[in-house]
Amino acid sequence: MPSLLIKNGRAIDPSQGMDRVTNLLIRDGKIAGYDTQPNGQDRIIDAAGKIISPGLIDMHVHLREPGREEDETIATGTAAALAGGFTSIACMPNTEPPTDTQASVEFIQHQAARADHCNVYVIACVSKNREGKELAELGQLVQAGAVGFTDDGAPVYDPELMRRAFEYCLMFDKPILNHAEVRELTKGGVMHEGLTSLLLGLPGMPGAAEDVMVSRDILLAEATGGRIHVMHVSSGGSVEIIRRAKLREVRVTAEICPHHFTLTDECLRSFDSNFKMSPPLRGRRDVEVCLAGLADGTIDVICTDHAPHAPEKKMRELDQAPFGILGLETCLGLVVTKLIEPGILDWPTAISKMTINPAQVLGIPKGTLAVGADADVTIIDPDIRWTVDSSRFHSKSVNTPFTGWQLRGRAQTVIVGGRVKYELP
Ligand SMILES: [Zn+2]
Ligand SMILES: [Zn+2]
Repeated sequence: MPSLLIKNGRAIDPSQGMDRVTNLLIRDGKIAGYDTQPNGQDRIIDAAGKIISPGLIDMHVHLREPGREEDETIATGTAAALAGGFTSIACMPNTEPPTDTQASVEFIQHQAARADHCNVYVIACVSKNREGKELAELGQLVQAGAVGFTDDGAPVYDPELMRRAFEYCLMFDKPILNHAEVRELTKGGVMHEGLTSLLLGLPGMPGAAEDVMVSRDILLAEATGGRIHVMHVSSGGSVEIIRRAKLREVRVTAEICPHHFTLTDECLRSFDSNFKMSPPLRGRRDVEVCLAGLADGTIDVICTDHAPHAPEKKMRELDQAPFGILGLETCLGLVVTKLIEPGILDWPTAISKMTINPAQVLGIPKGTLAVGADADVTIIDPDIRWTVDSSRFHSKSVNTPFTGWQLRGRAQTVIVGGRVKYELP
């Protein structure tokens, strides 16, 4: 495998507390050393003015395959991940059929290996067939390589099932990831319940629907000693509940998606279904509390909840259109433009939420540029300005609310296992 020298870049690796200009050597697919001088390496990449980051990790991606290949495939989704700067992703099990057996985990691993884009980790179902009735064979799924469990798309509803999932997972130290939503409170809803839903006459989904289930999950994790990862936090209430739980050392981590810290329910005034997702875009005050939660460490991870839907589905009337938007190819630009530029997060903190923190939640050996680690590296141009154009996306779908947005910051070169897999044209 060719050796590679990335020179004069600002290496930011929160896993080692590193932030300095250096030359990074990659050899045999591994991080081989720092401050190496050019000396016969097969390729030299000039990274002056650029940031050398551990390869970005997105721990919440819907790849849709098997079952909904008209929306996305493992090949197109992982190509989109690379273009967004991600070297590793974790995919959600709400496929058709759901990812609830060893064979279904292995199918995804096989397709990902065949696509040969980025690393794909599989998150498997908590319950058989995602029905919320009976636990899936968690031990066998761990053996097949599952790194966590969720019934995402839907919550794990039965508290007894949830409790047993926590207890069972203690054996493997795997997290349960839950989509927190009390369905009786959101039934028929298309957007956040608030002044805007009232003005628009649209059925609402209150923040309390999220807060109540986040509370339940935290209390069950506390009672069992299990690990809960709160998916796509959107309400200010749940940020405050998670913050208090962390103070009493409950094993809770949390993630947020860019749309929840950049957009509000006011966007629904357009009646554009690209603003329809679950949980919904919340009010201004919720966004402020989420930003504070990102800054003070209550929210550990930034991920995308990349949810492709083919145009003919997303183009339906607002109440008929499915929930969810794309995320992989806009995430980094939104983080730079909306969190780093305004000074809400500094570069090392932002990078930690997209590298070492998700790696630790999932227990995967990624998210670090330590010598000897797999050479997964994202070289970021922090200054480049670009316009979001979904017709240029690598994803098979185009359902983004960010079309036409001017963003700053983008992945320039993406290296997976020592091989250059993506270069910005
Ligand atoms: Zn979800
Ligand atoms: Zn999701």
